[in-house]
Amino acid sequence: MEINVKSLKQICEIAGAPGFEKRVRELVIELVTPHADEVKTDNLGNVIAVKKGTRNPDGKRVMVAAHMDEIGFIVTHIDDNGFLRFHTLGGFDPKTLTAQRVIVHGKKDLIGVMGSKPIHVMSQEERNKLPKTTDFFIDLGMPKEEVERYISIGDSVTRDRELIEMGDCVNCKSIDNRVAVFILIEALKKLENPAYDVYATFTVQEEVGIRGANVAAHGINPDFGIALDTTIAFDVPGAQAHEKVTELGKGTAIKIMDAMTICDYRMVEFMKQTANKEKITWQPEILTAGGTDTAGVQRMGKQGAIAGAISIPTRHLHQVIEMAHKQDIAYSIDLLVACLEQLDSYDWKH
Ligand SMILES: [Zn+2]
Repeated sequence: MEINVKSLKQICEIAGAPGFEKRVRELVIELVTPHADEVKTDNLGNVIAVKKGTRNPDGKRVMVAAHMDEIGFIVTHIDDNGFLRFHTLGGFDPKTLTAQRVIVHGKKDLIGVMGSKPIHVMSQEERNKLPKTTDFFIDLGMPKEEVERYISIGDSVTRDRELIEMGDCVNCKSIDNRVAVFILIEALKKLENPAYDVYATFTVQEEVGIRGANVAAHGINPDFGIALDTTIAFDVPGAQAHEKVTELGKGTAIKIMDAMTICDYRMVEFMKQTANKEKITWQPEILTAGGTDTAGVQRMGKQGAIAGAISIPTRHLHQVIEMAHKQDIAYSIDLLVACLEQLDSYDWKH
């Protein structure tokens, strides 16, 4: 099973901090338009690609959500020597910022480095302390006058890291959640006979609190919902068996719950049955910290939606070197397509 790594690379590498999704949105619109009956963008910036159901006399709607934004930063201050201070957009682990290259999106894109105090000049006490995001600054290697020619307070900043293949894995910044954007686009390409009307929704501002999905679900008012997002794969040295959440290369993950959603038991069962029938390798996922668009999809329509999520096991989540397994990605595409095509074959009354 091969995936289109070239397309995944393009989708992962493009910038799109929360609230600054313009570039990734334009790419998504370009990629989905040939495969949808209608493509629209709402006032918040969510892209909604509709594919009509083929057996849908009651006009049922299924919303599939994948967030386009990635964790990033916003410039808050330019000091007298041209160094930038910033605030985080999304949850960063401060220790992962050390010595990273970032891209500051001003009048033009500038490469910056995340600077901090060298260990040589740290006190013993400082050496033993975990860094905070406020310990860092961005060094553009330019004096203030030159920085101000291109950069203003309020400009967004994203991580700079290209996609590479490592064994059967892909490694890049923003695997969370561009891998799901990729999966949703690939699924639209493959989808021949969706049961109900599919609202493929590429949401904004998930990383700052599911803001886009809330608005989109309110507008779509779905009967069914499936969110797509990465989840923790803590299958690494030092992890206890009960801490793993998921494992890389062990298949797509069917979400049972995360900290913001208990998935509908019927959707969980339907996904398991569909995966088993289609010989799609899957693993269960329970994430006790962190939420996804599933929350908005499930609860923001007028009567709520029968909702669940397909998760992509990801190592090193919210760092610059997020990693997923190509086979898990392929299985996730297949499970999504099968679910959308067979949604009317399940008895949802029980
Ligand atoms: Zn995510």
